[in-house]
This record gives sequence, structure tokens and C-alpha cells, in this order.
Amino acid sequence: MNFIETRGNDGERPLAVSFSTAILGPMASFGGIYVPESLPDLGQEFLKSHVDASYKTLARDVLAAFEIDIEQDVIEEALNLYDHFDDSTNPAPLIKVLDDLYVSELYHGPTRAFKDMALQPFGILLSSLAQKRNENYLILAATSGDTGPAALETFKNRKNVQVACLYPDGGTSDVQRLQMVTEDAPNLKVIGIHGDFDDAQNALKLLLSSDSFNAKLKEKHISLSAANSVNFGRIIFQLIYHIHSYLELVRQSAIELGEKIYLDVPSGNFGNALGGYYAMKMGLPVEKILIASNKNNVLTELINNGQYDLREASVVATTSPAMDILKSSNVERILYDLYGSDRTKVLMQQLDNEKYYQLTNKELAQLQATFSADYCEDNEGKSYIKQAFANGYLMDPHTATCFKAYDSCRSKPLKTVAYSTAEWTKF
Ligand SMILES: *Cc1c(COP(=O)(O)O)cnc(C)c1O
Repeated sequence: MNFIETRGNDGERPLAVSFSTAILGPMASFGGIYVPESLPDLGQEFLKSHVDASYKTLARDVLAAFEIDIEQDVIEEALNLYDHFDDSTNPAPLIKVLDDLYVSELYHGPTRAFKDMALQPFGILLSSLAQKRNENYLILAATSGDTGPAALETFKNRKNVQVACLYPDGGTSDVQRLQMVTEDAPNLKVIGIHGDFDDAQNALKLLLSSDSFNAKLKEKHISLSAANSVNFGRIIFQLIYHIHSYLELVRQSAIELGEKIYLDVPSGNFGNALGGYYAMKMGLPVEKILIASNKNNVLTELINNGQYDLREASVVATTSPAMDILKSSNVERILYDLYGSDRTKVLMQQLDNEKYYQLTNKELAQLQATFSADYCEDNEGKSYIKQAFANGYLMDPHTATCFKAYDSCRSKPLKTVAYSTAEWTKF
């Protein structure tokens, strides 16, 4: 399968690239990013034949459907990392919490956040590609708190890769910061910046597309890549667990195969939700994707009013720091999918230059056909945590935002999978 560009082609880059090229160099023409040219249609048959499949088998078969140019032994090595999660037979357990609400716990990997679901295998893919091509990579990671630890963990001591990780100093929890600054492998560098996550991600995107920086690195025989979810190598692993959660509902006899469900996703950079969107487009029976945010509620505004407005906005610190983001990178992939590359280029350039864009009513209706959104204040989140705990379930503040969206965004009494993106111990 080939990958094409969200903002169209500048005539200098290839019109389409392979998966390996897209993950080694994730920035595309006009500051855009890569998207799959088409998506495989998995359909009911695929779901039916995977009702009893292990997570690894499901993952292997989803990756096979994408026909990516990665050798099978490397894929196997990558997927074997799921054996080191808490339960080697199921890295992402699904827990019933309320009548219709099931929580898919994505935090059972080494750094206790859902970033491990993708970054663990992604680390193997990238470093083995680098080794096979006999190339050296500098991998940039901008983090709001959990990408950093997960990227450092997966790349530490791997050959042909070095990592530079930027985090907002004072913008993460202590556990998150300590997870990063106590890593001491020689191929890792951790840098606290004066600024928020958006500043860190802006710096990353600027460096990735800077000709002079890339030329300087070339002199030292180093190429540049990124561990953030602008890299499709993250996204491909993030659509698998949405399918897995659906099949878990079937296995637990909560739904019949084919029944529609809601996905309820605590969102920041929109990688997790995008994975759900692609899974839905590939045939997973999903009624809608609920986008849960904290007080940094740009996504709620976009989905409810069609307006992405950063003119007056600044990041506020909340109890769910991994979602303290205003420039949500993967929204661009949704814009591309719904409105095409010409319109995406216009909208993204407006956002870059004027800090604002407004969708048309027709565009907004298209967006709302798939997404609903709400945001959760810290004190509301606290009371959801308290209530859930009284019922015997302990969760972290990111997960709590989903409980608000569960209450306010559903219009049908369908089973709902909410994602628990981090272990409560980190906050
Ligand atoms: C990264 C992160 C999120 C946001 O996920 P996106 O894919 O960036 O939308 C939510 N919760 C936690 C705990 C995270 O680490």
C-alpha cells in the first residue's frame, strides 16, 4: 500500500511513497503528513474469523491487510513485545464498569500509558529499517508527558537510532518527568523546554521540514524522523486495539457481532481517535466516536461549531496533562479524508497563519456524522473518579474525561468502549 500527502504534492517529492519511506521521513509537501492512499476493507468476515484470535494474531492480520513493506520476521519481533505486557495473552483487557460502559485498559505496557501500544512495536520497525539500510536516524519526540517515556523506552540502546525528546518543563506529572530524565542510555537526550506541548511540537515540525537542519545532519550521515503520531507508523498500531476492543465485547457476550458501539476516546493529538476512525472506515461497526477533552477544548469547539480558533487560546494546565494540547496534529488527516487535499491545505495554512479556520455548514455536518465531543473540567473529572471508585473501579484523570462524554454525547443506548490511556499511578 502506498501513502500520499494531506496537503497535496509540491512536484518535488514523489507522488506516493511506501510505508517504510513514510515512517522514516514523516513530513510531506507543504508541511503536510502522510495518509494511506486507500484503506483495506476488513468487513464482517474478517471480524467473524477473528472472534477467537489473540491480540498478536489480530495485529498480524490487520498489518497484512495494509500490505506494508516490512519483512515478516521484523513484524513478528515487533509484535512479540506485547508478550511483556502485564498479561502476555491480552495486552489490552476490557473491563465492564457501568451497564453500557466498558473500559479498554491500554496502559499495561512498560511505561504505564497507552503510548506503549504503538511505540513498543514501532521502535523495532524503525531501528531495524535503519540497520538494514545502514543508515543512522535522529528521532525527535515532542511529548505532553507519555510519548517521551514510551519513545525513550522503546529506542534505548537500539542500534542506528538516537532520540532527542522535548518536554514542557513543569507541564508533566512528576512521575512522567522522572521516567524521562532518569533514562541514561547513551543514545537518548531529554530536553525540558520553556513552553508548552504545542511549542515542543512546533519545534519538532520546524526541524523536520528545515532544509538547512537536514543538510547539517546529512553531513554527519544522519537522517531525521519523528516518534509523534504525525508518523503513520504510530497510527497503524493504534487502529488494531479498537478492533480488539470490539471483539472483546463479542467475546464477553456484551454484543452480537455486527452490533454498533460507541468509541469514547480521551483526545489530545487525535492519534488514538484517528485509529478508531480508520477502524470504522475499514468496517468496524461503530455508531460514533466520542471525543473527550479537558479544559483545552479546541476539539470540542471544532466538532460542535466547526471552528478551530487559537486566536485567544493558550494552553491551561489541567489534571490530565497528556491532553494539554491546542494544535492537534491528526485532525489534519480527518480533514484530508473528509474534504480532500486542496481544502486541507487551505485550512491548515489558515491555522498556521491566522490561527483560525471555520468549516462550512456542509463540512461540519460531515464531521458530525462521525464525531461527537464534550470536555470535562478538572472538578467534574474528580467526581467521576470518586464515583467510579465507590463502584470498585480506579482510574486516572484522562480516563475520567470519557465518563463525561459518555453521559453527554450518546443519543442511543449502545454499548460504549471508553479508553483508559494511563495508569492512575502516574498522576
Ligand atoms: C497521549 C495521551 C492522550 C491523548 O492521545 P492522542 O492520541 O494524542 O489524542 C490521552 N491520554 C493519555 C494518558 C495520553 O498519554
